[in-house]
Amino acid sequence: MPKGQGGNPKIQKSMNDTSSTPRIAVMFVGGLDDCKYTMKILDDLGFPCALDVAEKMGPQYANRGYYIITMPEENAQQAKELMEQKIREDLEINNSPEELENKCPACGADLSADHTECPDCGLNFG
Ligand SMILES: [Zn+2]
Repeated sequence: MPKGQGGNPKIQKSMNDTSSTPRIAVMFVGGLDDCKYTMKILDDLGFPCALDVAEKMGPQYANRGYYIITMPEENAQQAKELMEQKIREDLEINNSPEELENKCPACGADLSADHTECPDCGLNFG
């Protein structure tokens, strides 16, 4: 058997065989807080996902305190697009300049346009 090395015919067959091992896609790598944020978005979007330690991806992630979000690969592409859209929307809401103008720079309380001082901490804008 001269061609025995690495010639397992099952490897080629597994390309179309999704029933044996479910394929897992990594959706996110990062710190625990960021992972929790990502998980919440995926959960809100209705995609089941799982939190795991990043070391499972390889030794380069060991001892960094990183985590990963995984989910079944069949939904990963759709989930990623929806997730990125949701994150963009969140960022736009949080970074809206109008929003910033109406917040007290000291305590972050919401202010109406005609306020000359903060109703919360008393900071004067006059
Ligand atoms: Zn204030």
